[in-house]
Parts: sequence; structure tokens; C-alpha cells
Amino acid sequence: MTREELYQSIYTHETIYIPPQEEGSAALEVALGCSWHKCTFCDFARDEFFIHPLSRIEHNLQILGMLQPENTRLFLLGENAFCLSTEFLCQIIDLVAKYMPNVHRIAMYSRADDILRKTDEELRLLKSRGVAALHIGVESGSDPILAERCKGVTSAQILDALHRLEQTGIDYFVTIIPGLGGREYSHLHALETARLLNQLHPKNIWCLKLKLWEDTKLCKEAQKGFFQMMTPEEILLEERLMLENLHVKDCLFEDTTVLDQYTIYGMLPDQKKDLLRAIDYLLARP
Ligand code: SF4
Repeated sequence: MTREELYQSIYTHETIYIPPQEEGSAALEVALGCSWHKCTFCDFARDEFFIHPLSRIEHNLQILGMLQPENTRLFLLGENAFCLSTEFLCQIIDLVAKYMPNVHRIAMYSRADDILRKTDEELRLLKSRGVAALHIGVESGSDPILAERCKGVTSAQILDALHRLEQTGIDYFVTIIPGLGGREYSHLHALETARLLNQLHPKNIWCLKLKLWEDTKLCKEAQKGFFQMMTPEEILLEERLMLENLHVKDCLFEDTTVLDQYTIYGMLPDQKKDLLRAIDYLLARP
């Protein structure tokens, strides 16, 4: 088999997605889809939720170890791979040590409630076994918006989960969805999200503006007039309000979807003024 064929043999889909912060990591598919699968805006979790048996994971790891023997970083694929039991994650990590002994940093996607279902002891164990970072879709700090979009967690639960990661020393990266509240809740979304983030210490805040994906519930609500989608300019103005009210420290802020064509990024708090200036400049264009 060629290298390409070997890679193809270990992934279900042709394209795999890992967060930009994990670029360069080897990617091991441990699950497909999302165990929650109910957020009304989500087009990400297309597969039915499925956890690969350990035998399949071991087989894939053997191949991945052959293809990337020197890689020190591993990303576990699955829309919320951290929902796997601690015991199962530890079994996977045992196999990682066998087939990819150079790996010392493991990251994956997680929901806030996946973290809450684990005890402090389990979180500490996973950290000691190499789980160094989780990527979490926070989306909004506003409870009415989280509830309306069926996120399945409250802002208090998000806060609790991420504080527990901080106590354990597991890093976390969060995504926010500007525009998720629609025109009606735009201010609330901006201010409540800033309020939530100000109580946290994420490594990175990644804004991905709302996109209405065909066939999602939210898209259908918008078509029926129950959700007012904002223009890209309105969404950027909302993001500006959130940024203005953000007081997080040592955190990279980025948005790769500005006006559907630009990327802005900068460290907070030092580059906050530059980021606001960049937004003002883009909003002032004809
Ligand atoms: S938790 Fe994430 S992956 Fe799962 S349905 Fe919601 S947005 Fe999609």
C-alpha cells in the first residue's frame, strides 16, 4: 500500500478536521459524530455517533505509528471524543504509548458536560497520562441563547467545567459563534459571552461567525421567520461589542470568518486596541 492508501484506510472520511491550534498533530479516529447531536445550528456532526472498538483503534494506531513515528502530538478525532469513559481513554493512551512512544501531548474536542461527568480524580489521571488540551464549543455565554439553540448546557455548567480543567492543569481552547442569538439577542449574546469569558482563562478564543447550513433546524427557523439572521457587518459589530467588554489575559483572540473573507488575530489584552481598530477599519470600508 502507498502512504496515501494507508492514510485512507484509517479514516472514515476523505477530509479530516482538526483545530488549527493542533496543526501538525497526528490524528487518530476514535469516534464518529457527536454524542449530543442536538444543537440546532450544527452541521459539523453529520455522522451517527459511534465509538470505534479498541481493536480498530489499535489497528489504526499501528498504521499511524508507522506513518508518523516521530510525532509527539496526537489529536483524537470525534466531535466530542472526551465523552469516552476515562477507562477507555486510558486504554487508548496505553496503546498510544506502545505504537507512538514519542507522543507526549494529546488533545481532542469536548463538550462542557463531558468534563462534568468526570471526577476530579479522573481529570487528574487523564492529565497525568498526557491529555493536555481540550477544544470546546462554548458558542455563547447567554443562557436563553444556549437553550434556544439546544446546546444542552448552561453558562454556569460551562463555567464549572472549565474551572475544573484549570484546577487540573488541562489547557482549553474555546470557540464562540458571533451572530448565534440573531438580531434580537445580539447585544445579550455579546455582553453575556464577554461576561462568561472574563471569568475564564482560555488559551485561545476562536470566533467563527454563524453560518446557516441547509437542513439544520436553525436554517428552517430562519426560513419561517422565527430567527433573524444578521448581516456579516452586523455580526462584526456584535463581535466588536464583545471584544470591547473582554478582559481575559494571555489569550489569543482570532476570527477567521470576518465579513466572510478576512482573518483577524491578536493577543489579549495587549493587542485589544489593534483588534478593535482593525474591526473599525473593516466596518468603515465602502
Ligand atoms: S455539541 Fe458540538 S458537535 Fe455536537 S451537536 Fe452541538 S455543536 Fe454539533
